[in-house]
Amino acid sequence: EKKGLNEIRQLFLDFFKSKDHLVRSSYPLVPQNDKSLLLINAGMAPLKPYFAGTEVPPNKRMATCQKCIRTGDIENVGHTARHATFFEMLGNFSFGDYFKEESILWGWEFVIQHLKMPEDKLWASVYLDDDEAYEIWSKKVGVSEDKIVRLGKEDNFWEIGVGPCGPCSEIYFDRGEKYGCGKADCKPGCDCDRYVEFWNHVFTQFDKDEAGNYNLLPNPNIDTGMGLERVACIMQDVDSIFEVDTMKYILDQACQITSSTYNKDEATNISLRIITDHIRSVTFMVSDGILPSNEGRGYVLRRLLRRAARHGKILGVQKSFLYQLVDAVIKMYGEMYTELQEKEDYIKRVIQVEEERFQETIDQGLDILNEYIKNLQTAKESTLTGELAFKLYDTYGFPLDLTKEILEEKGLQVDLQGFEEEMTKQRERARQARGTGDTEGWKEDVFSSLSMDITTNFKGYEETKNTGKV
Ligand code: ATP
Ligand code: MG
Ligand code: MG
Ligand code: MG
Repeated sequence: EKKGLNEIRQLFLDFFKSKDHLVRSSYPLVPQNDKSLLLINAGMAPLKPYFAGTEVPPNKRMATCQKCIRTGDIENVGHTARHATFFEMLGNFSFGDYFKEESILWGWEFVIQHLKMPEDKLWASVYLDDDEAYEIWSKKVGVSEDKIVRLGKEDNFWEIGVGPCGPCSEIYFDRGEKYGCGKADCKPGCDCDRYVEFWNHVFTQFDKDEAGNYNLLPNPNIDTGMGLERVACIMQDVDSIFEVDTMKYILDQACQITSSTYNKDEATNISLRIITDHIRSVTFMVSDGILPSNEGRGYVLRRLLRRAARHGKILGVQKSFLYQLVDAVIKMYGEMYTELQEKEDYIKRVIQVEEERFQETIDQGLDILNEYIKNLQTAKESTLTGELAFKLYDTYGFPLDLTKEILEEKGLQVDLQGFEEEMTKQRERARQARGTGDTEGWKEDVFSSLSMDITTNFKGYEETKNTGKV
């Protein structure tokens, strides 16, 4: 029988409750007392003080289902089967209590006995030299050695600057050749959608010091993260997370409202998936008190909303429509996340106002861009200056990727470097206007690793690439 996403979530929490874990409901998406992070992006993030030992946890074992936002995955959304900007992370945590063996054995017990995943489809990964984890998988769990892979820092070592860090071990599900890239060396860790990483176990056993030494922690911790949408995708045997029961319901509403059909052509599919993903992120962000703005998390919200609105335009929608999808999100998630129900009217209003504001400027922006195009063609030039592209962005909220796309259709281009220079100047102005402010901890621009259209004028959290987790 196929289990629904909401049911799988409950199974997980009940399982770890039976293993003496204190089950806590999700923390808000807005980090509390943590300036290093723009938005919560992992189950462990709100629990950092317990890992660092600056606060005493209410229990040495905890489990949560945490709302997460990962803006760093925005370009994957709609294109891979497994990435969303908003997702739920199931996690069990040990603060100096149990360690590798329990973590792996309980993980396996849950996956085999409770989720009833077929054993022959499962693979495990360990960090290069983590023989301890390797032995647990091969000897204690009994996974055959050809299904245990050793992966490097990029996938399987978690660290952020100095402090607690350590190797990871992941569980992968082989969805079969039809999802594979076809390369001879395709195995867990490959970028394609065949082997899906669904559960990461982090063993924080070191304390990295300023000199770069990895000192053994006297009381190592456990921090695991399992993507709920991914598990549901595996369990329900569907092509992508967008076809998981709760996601599909929203996607179906999006089809209806935009008069589009899913699985007819790929471009439409991508737009529909982006709308489905972004409306979920936006709804949850607004319910946690974030408002659209030109800075920080407000900008992330604005950017997601405008991106979704643009994909509505691509699908031929003339009016604002996103706010109408809020009902679908609440219907699927409102029981678990009661803040959605409580703020239903407010969420819709915030989204509609922002959407209508963008509707006005997007049309104005299009008129102005068409003017620029005519001028370029008359002058027999092919590159729009960074200054003009920036003006469209700054004054009309007009995304650079849209400017780029429209120009490319006419065989024209944008001076991207010039745009970046304008952005830098504006950032400088904003920084001066703000004084020293509270942006100290935001080391990098949150979108800098993405396309420049979503670069913004704040200094945000940047996903550390080699962490394995976040
Ligand atoms: P991937 O390599 O597939 O991008 P990750 O290694 O970045 O995943 P982790 O940081 O280890 O992911 O997070 C723990 C778990 O959270 C993952 O194993 C996965 O199940 C889930 N997860 C991570 N990113 C996403 C996402 N963008 N959308 C949905 N689930 C995700
Ligand atoms: Mg990732
Ligand atoms: Mg990974
Ligand atoms: Mg991982």
